[in-house]
Amino acid sequence: MNGKIYIIGTGPGDKDFVIPKALISMQNSDIIVGYKTYIDLIRPFITDVELVSSGMKKEVDRCSEVLEIAKTGKTVSLISSGDAGIYGMAGIMLEIVEKSGTDIEVEVVPGISAATSAGALLGAPLMNDFVTLSLSDLMTPWELIVKRIKTACSGDFVMALYNPKSKTRVKQLEIAINTMLEYYKGDTPVGIVKHAMREKQEVSITTLDDVLNQDVDMFTTLVIGNSQTRVINGKMVTKRGYTY
Ligand code: SAH
Repeated sequence: MNGKIYIIGTGPGDKDFVIPKALISMQNSDIIVGYKTYIDLIRPFITDVELVSSGMKKEVDRCSEVLEIAKTGKTVSLISSGDAGIYGMAGIMLEIVEKSGTDIEVEVVPGISAATSAGALLGAPLMNDFVTLSLSDLMTPWELIVKRIKTACSGDFVMALYNPKSKTRVKQLEIAINTMLEYYKGDTPVGIVKHAMREKQEVSITTLDDVLNQDVDMFTTLVIGNSQTRVINGKMVTKRGYTY
């Protein structure tokens, strides 16, 4: 008999931000599989479940492994940080199950994504229409990312930037911000959130003109305001148009 696969988003890091359904599903699994950093984050509060960590950039192997475990009749959870359906493991896992031709049950459990964690820590910058953009061009061509930035800017969207910069990928952020400056004013507020809901959490607010002078890395989410975003009492707020 086939087992079951849960695809779970474990939120930004802290246990208090893992939804109860995710906790219950993980606790009811025989095995939990995920990238090492995320397995280490859940290790303190998951008991008596086998935890299997795997390396970065091994996503397809990880999904095949999960499928093989489920085929033996076990319940297995595949975890991603934030929401597994937002730059996470949900899509590739569903593709691999489909390709295998098995009828294994798959359930996707949502999580709190970096955009909403960062939004809450900054105030209320995502109050109106916003987009998420990943600046990683490992799997999306860079020309398409730039096109999407320009499209978002021409619609005056607030933007949550995932994967803004890594040790080897530095130029992309510079090009992205300079592209935004062609559309948005230099004093547009920009929120910088590092390690949201984790031990080394850092939150600050700067401007589009200044953000390239700030320390941004792969643990950072940037929230770029739009023409309606202000800093009010130290919080970043996008007006939604209420009259009062
Ligand atoms: N599935 C995840 C995103 C994975 S992409 C989610 O829904 O949140 C990885 C990127 O997410 C990082 O480069 C960073 O930009 C962002 N991110 C993930 N966790 C974060 C955290 N705790 N604090 C700030 N940014 C985070």
